[in-house]
Parts: sequence; C-alpha cells; structure tokens
Amino acid sequence: MDFETCAIGVDLGATKIAAALVTYNGRTLAARQVMTLADQGPNAVLDRIAELVNGMLGMVEPKQLLGVGIGSPGQVDPRSGVVRNAVNLGWKEVELTTGVASRLHCPLSIWAEKDANASALGEYTFGTACGISELVYLGIGSGLGGGAISNGTSISGANLTAMEVGHLSLDPSGLLCTCGNYGCAETTISGRGLSAITRKLIQTQRFQTCLDMSQDLHPSQVLEAARQGDPLSLAAITEMGQQLGFIFSMCAALLNPSHIVIGGGLGLAAFDLLIPPALKEMARRCLPAARSDLKILRSTLESPSIGAAALVWYHQRR
Ligand SMILES: [Zn+2]
Repeated sequence: MDFETCAIGVDLGATKIAAALVTYNGRTLAARQVMTLADQGPNAVLDRIAELVNGMLGMVEPKQLLGVGIGSPGQVDPRSGVVRNAVNLGWKEVELTTGVASRLHCPLSIWAEKDANASALGEYTFGTACGISELVYLGIGSGLGGGAISNGTSISGANLTAMEVGHLSLDPSGLLCTCGNYGCAETTISGRGLSAITRKLIQTQRFQTCLDMSQDLHPSQVLEAARQGDPLSLAAITEMGQQLGFIFSMCAALLNPSHIVIGGGLGLAAFDLLIPPALKEMARRCLPAARSDLKILRSTLESPSIGAAALVWYHQRR
C-alpha cells in the first residue's frame, strides 16, 4: 500500500475528551486530550471536540484520512448521530455528528456510537479479540458499560439501549442508582460499587480489616489492601466478582459470545481478583455449553479513542 489510511477517534467522557489519529492497523500516530467541562453546555463541548479534530487534520495527507468516529455516553443513534439522555453530560438531546461536522475546517464523514459499542468495535478491529465476530465488551470504571458484537455486527437495539447491563437491576431493594432506579448492576460493579460493598462489610464486622469508615474507601485503596491480603477487602472484591458473574451469565445466555473482553480502569486493575469468583458464579447460573469455551480477556487497547476510530472502518465496510 502506498499510504496508510487513517481515522480520528474521539472518546467523549464525562471528565475528559480523548482523541487519537489511528492507522488502519491500529497504530496511534497522535493522541490529545482536553477536559470536557460539560457544565459549560453542549455547544462548548462540540467546540472542544472539533478543536481536537481540526488540530489533527494537517498531520496526514487529506486523502489518507477516511473520517471521524465518536464514542459517546447516552443513547446514541448511529444513523442520525443524535445523542439522547447522556445523564453524566447533562444532555437530553444533542445533534453530535452534525454539530461537530459544521465546526470542522474540511468536510469529513463522522460516525457516532455508544461508548461501550465503540470499545467493542475497537477490540474487534484492533484489540485482543481482533476478528472475533461473537464478543461482548464490559467496561468497569466509574460505571458499568456494555457493548456487543454478534455475527460481526454491532448491536444497538430497537431503542438504542441494547447491552445497557449497568442499569439492569440485580436487587430492586438495593442502592439508589444515578438513573433513578434501585440496585442496578453498576451500584455494585463499579468503583463506586466497590466502595459501597466495602462500607457495608465494615458495618457487619464479620471480617478483619485495616480499613475503617473514617477513610474515603476509594476503590484503589480497597484494591491495594486486597493485594496485601486484607480479608475484608478480598471479600468485597469477591462479592463484586460474583455480581459480575451474574452479568457474564446473562450475556452468555442471551448472546453466547466466544469472548468477553474486560476494560475500564477498575476492570483492568482488579482483573485477576474479579474473574475467578465471576467464573465460579457463572458455573452456577448458565448452561455448560454457553460457558465452557468462553474466554475472558483483558482489553489491550491503550485508549477508548482507538475504539472510536474503529467506527470509521466498520461503517465504511457496510
Ligand atoms: Zn441505574
């Protein structure tokens, strides 16, 4: 090939916006990030996304650049590029792709998907599950996000809420979730969830621990204590792993993926401690045929913006 085709991927997060200029084989040529500052309103956020993209336009020949992919929270319509109900951004309805396109210095095709779907496509296109046509991606960080590829196709659902596993209530009398419901999976399977489980276990006084309620019980603190062998911290991570096992079982029963890829800050940091209890729980909950060949992998993509770039090649092929 005389030149490498490239795409720009943008991951729009509640805290920061990350952008990467990525080649067709997943190599990152440039990466930038800025604060989202969503409280300044959607137009200011669209300005910042466009500024990141415009800043990368001169880095490659115009004919090399195929387009822009954006991963966003909320219900994202890949056909219209409209984002609805992105609670963490305070967005009710924003025309994301047309808003960014109108701010670019040159015309480019832009595609948008829910952030976890973009990550699933990133794994499928460049990542650890490259070419795997039946896969689920679960991102465990400040929340729990899910995306799925079935028969090589990204699944959105009738109302764009497919794989919203973070807001599946596992315990309707559980903790209040940001969505307004109670006991959603992300109230236990997330950084916030790990802190909540730890607090609950401290109150039961059933386990020895170096932690106490006067600390903020940040997930990294709990994880560090678990790595030192702290019994309560290990029990908290095991409980979170069991809840994750229920989500694995549901994914296996509904979609029968061959691979589940785990990403997100906490998912990667606690991977080795979470997966054994999750698999044990899964063995109690679903058919052997749905789980016996299932592989659970760590995400190897350096940034969700790389996954967003994969949208460009995915949509161009369709
Ligand atoms: Zn919820």
